[in-house]
Amino acid sequence: MPPSGAPHLPVNYRLRLAHLYSSHMNVYGDRGNVIALQQRCAWRGIELSVTAIEPGAEADWGSFDLAFFGGGQDSGQALIARDLLERQGIGLRAAIEEGLVLLAICGGYQLLGHYFLTHTGERLPGLGALDVYTIGGKRRLIGNIVVEARLGTGAPVRLVGFENHSGRTYHGVGVQPLGRVLAGYGDNGEDGVGGAVYRNTFGCYLHGALLPKNPQLTDHLIGLALRRRYGPNATLAPLDATLELHAQRVMVERLV
Ligand code: GLN
Repeated sequence: MPPSGAPHLPVNYRLRLAHLYSSHMNVYGDRGNVIALQQRCAWRGIELSVTAIEPGAEADWGSFDLAFFGGGQDSGQALIARDLLERQGIGLRAAIEEGLVLLAICGGYQLLGHYFLTHTGERLPGLGALDVYTIGGKRRLIGNIVVEARLGTGAPVRLVGFENHSGRTYHGVGVQPLGRVLAGYGDNGEDGVGGAVYRNTFGCYLHGALLPKNPQLTDHLIGLALRRRYGPNATLAPLDATLELHAQRVMVERLV
């Protein structure tokens, strides 16, 4: 929600975001993550341009500061998995290694890993950028979820969201957990791990949409992108999020 009296700053910073396969990978309002990034940038006078990357599109990955990859049904994932690997693979993997700030939710998260073996036995190839793999189960893991995460050097934050997936994601040694599941299932419903982090790439199962509900993570991602583009002194202007944080707290109190 717009903070009252939000400063209308002159545009001084510009950032570019790539939105991966939004026509096939957009469930539970995942597009809201892009809107949240754009709005919290705009309130600070940061211009965030969004480029849609659909199947067949060429992308200059070195030009992007941020990327978003939403969730999808197994059928949607099957439609784009080869394009992701064969057309975007080399450029996107290199950008991830160089610190592209990327958020991937659920089906998008799965396809950044090594592979997704669906519950019908179809093996979808992943990008292999994250050291995780996913196996589909017969029972879907559905419900509200809370993940306690430490973002940078700050105090732990309780991220709230909604999950619905058949895939169980297991981590290798090349990723760090994003956080610890306090309520819900998380990556696999077994080990309490909620999401993965590698360099500036974040993957997790939290729909919601995630970023409108969790402004601390939104601002963390914008801050990372700003410092990567403009250097360590680029600072993120403080911005009110009273209502969002109140709603977040209510959900945490209800669920944990
Ligand atoms: N199709 C995947 C699964 O069921 C991802 C689902 C999603 O993105 N919500 O595990």
